[in-house]
Amino acid sequence: MSSSENTTPATDVPVAKSDAQWRQELTPEEYRVLRQAGTERPYTGEYWDTHTEGVYQCRACGSRLFTSREKFDSHCGWPSFWAPLAEGTVRYLHDRTLGMERIEVRCAKCDSHLGHVFEGEGYDTPTDQRYCINSISLRLVETDAD
Ligand SMILES: [Zn+2]
Repeated sequence: MSSSENTTPATDVPVAKSDAQWRQELTPEEYRVLRQAGTERPYTGEYWDTHTEGVYQCRACGSRLFTSREKFDSHCGWPSFWAPLAEGTVRYLHDRTLGMERIEVRCAKCDSHLGHVFEGEGYDTPTDQRYCINSISLRLVETDAD
């Protein structure tokens, strides 16, 4: 942890770490969700009901992924956003596990699992998309935080 980490420039250089490195850097639960595409239990995460203003970063690599401006109350038990911070901050994968067609959302920079995105559910948001993201995949950096 260096004090200069919040001045890291936003580059497109992907983060490539070995599985052993991730295991060392992440807690077991973070590792299970971020690197093994696990899911935290609903209503248990840190941010599902958070309205604090700020930027949500990838917990694995610090890439800026979502902001509080696009967060909305979906009442699904996980933090929900109607759009990512910008195009290209996340990538999408077809996920056919559990017998469902879902779109998995990953961090574009370090390829960590974030959650899934659902569409056309009728939420009253500009996109009618719901990025259903695990709290444990994110770290909220408050707008006014020093
Ligand atoms: Zn990342």
